[in-house]
Amino acid sequence: MIDAYNPSMIEGRCISCGQGLVEEGCVAFPCPECGTIIRRCRSCREKSAKYECPECGLVGP
Ligand SMILES: [Zn+2]
Ligand SMILES: [Zn+2]
Repeated sequence: MIDAYNPSMIEGRCISCGQGLVEEGCVAFPCPECGTIIRRCRSCREKSAKYECPECGLVGP
Protein backbone atom coordinates (compact mmCIF):
# COMPACT_ATOMS: atom_id res chain seq x y z
CA MET A 1 0.00 0.00 0.00
CA ILE A 2 1.36 3.35 -0.95
CA ASP A 3 -0.06 6.41 0.73
CA ALA A 4 2.26 8.91 -0.84
CA TYR A 5 4.08 9.25 -4.07
CA ASN A 6 7.15 7.13 -4.32
CA PRO A 7 9.73 8.47 -6.72
CA SER A 8 12.53 6.20 -7.74
CA MET A 9 15.05 8.35 -6.00
CA ILE A 10 14.78 10.58 -2.99
CA GLU A 11 17.74 12.60 -1.91
CA GLY A 12 18.31 13.38 1.70
CA ARG A 13 17.70 11.69 4.99
CA CYS A 14 14.81 10.36 6.94
CA ILE A 15 13.35 13.10 9.09
CA SER A 16 12.64 10.64 11.89
CA CYS A 17 15.74 8.47 12.20
CA GLY A 18 18.30 10.31 10.06
CA GLN A 19 19.14 7.38 7.84
CA GLY A 20 19.85 7.89 4.19
CA LEU A 21 16.88 7.03 2.02
CA VAL A 22 18.33 4.16 0.09
CA GLU A 23 15.70 1.46 0.35
CA GLU A 24 12.50 1.22 -1.59
CA GLY A 25 9.39 2.44 0.09
CA CYS A 26 10.74 5.72 1.37
CA VAL A 27 8.39 8.63 0.94
CA ALA A 28 8.56 12.36 0.54
CA PHE A 29 5.64 14.66 1.12
CA PRO A 30 5.15 18.36 1.72
CA CYS A 31 4.62 19.60 5.23
CA PRO A 32 0.92 20.41 5.60
CA GLU A 33 1.86 23.60 7.36
CA CYS A 34 4.64 25.15 5.33
CA GLY A 35 5.17 22.90 2.33
CA THR A 36 8.72 21.86 3.15
CA ILE A 37 9.45 18.43 1.78
CA ILE A 38 9.57 15.89 4.58
CA ARG A 39 11.24 12.56 3.92
CA ARG A 40 10.83 9.34 5.74
CA CYS A 41 12.31 5.92 5.31
CA ARG A 42 10.27 2.81 4.90
CA SER A 43 10.70 1.49 8.41
CA CYS A 44 9.70 4.77 9.99
CA ARG A 45 6.67 4.99 7.74
CA GLU A 46 5.63 1.49 8.67
CA LYS A 47 6.08 2.27 12.35
CA SER A 48 4.24 5.54 11.89
CA ALA A 49 7.12 7.26 13.64
CA LYS A 50 6.47 10.88 14.29
CA TYR A 51 8.14 13.55 12.26
CA GLU A 52 9.05 17.09 13.02
CA CYS A 53 9.22 19.62 10.22
CA PRO A 54 12.66 21.22 10.17
CA GLU A 55 11.19 24.50 8.99
CA CYS A 56 8.12 25.14 11.11
CA GLY A 57 8.45 22.53 13.85
CA LEU A 58 5.16 20.85 13.08
CA VAL A 59 5.01 17.38 14.62
CA GLY A 60 2.87 14.84 12.89
CA PRO A 61 2.09 11.16 12.91
ZN1 LIG B 1 13.59 6.55 9.32
ZN1 LIG C 1 6.54 22.73 8.11
